[in-house]
Amino acid sequence: MVIVGDDPASQVYVKNKEKACEAVGFNSFKYALPAETTEEELLALVDKLNNDDRVDGILVQLPLPKHLDDKIIINNIRVDKDVDAFHPVNVGKIMIGDYSFLPCTPAGVMELIKSTGTEVAGKECVVIGRSNIVGKPQAMLLLHENGTVTITHSKTKDLKAVCRRADILVAAVGRARMVKADYIKEGAVVIDVGMNRDENGKLCGDVDFEDCKEKAGFITPVPGGVGPMTIAMLMKNTLTAGKEHHGIK
Ligand code: NDP
Repeated sequence: MVIVGDDPASQVYVKNKEKACEAVGFNSFKYALPAETTEEELLALVDKLNNDDRVDGILVQLPLPKHLDDKIIINNIRVDKDVDAFHPVNVGKIMIGDYSFLPCTPAGVMELIKSTGTEVAGKECVVIGRSNIVGKPQAMLLLHENGTVTITHSKTKDLKAVCRRADILVAAVGRARMVKADYIKEGAVVIDVGMNRDENGKLCGDVDFEDCKEKAGFITPVPGGVGPMTIAMLMKNTLTAGKEHHGIK
């Protein structure tokens, strides 16, 4: 795990990932670099980890400080150690359904949907958000499971009406409690990816849990929903990478 700078949220995420590694019995090496680290220095570390046989998975915590280009760094992580599945080769493999790693947050969402017993095939699925790390891969995974998928974003007209069609609604917006009961269909599966701070600094999701909990068939809380599943999927990807590197079936 590589963390650059002192973004408080990133510090918490990395700490939680370290704890998860310890819980499942993985060795983890944390490299905490100062905010003024140069691209050359960071690339040199990535290269060292790419060539370190003790390392099966590399995670560079995003976002990086502004002077560093996420894309350049991610593109230099070895594809078979890219346990976040952000490298363009892994993204392409997900598109064609031929992959070793799934991106952690969307994969965690799929597990949560599966845990409700809801079959995705044939269902109306609406994803709010189209980022490369959540919205787009989420839509792709729902499509692979034969959902009828709509991706919405900030230019979508009448978002509420589109969301109300959803049997499965995934919110990945980054706006505190934006999704209210009038966005959801009675009995829908509502998965909240958002991690926001409200006006009082309290951690909350994109969905107004209290407003929606009676109307939804299933709903995930924040904290305690998608976040822990994301970390579980990171552990799964790391195990997959480790098995592949050591030739274990
Ligand atoms: P981005 O900011 O990259 O993307 C947000 C998306 O939401 C964009 O596509 C944007 O549209 C869309 N959007 C913004 N406002 C509206 C609106 N009013 N109506 C409809 N769509 C809107 O965020 P991320 O995808 O990176 O993250 C989303 C949320 O998920 C954040 O709260 C983040 O913290 C959280 N997150 C949680 C993780 C976890 O492990 N639990 C992991 C990753 C993220 P447009 O493209 O048009 O700008």
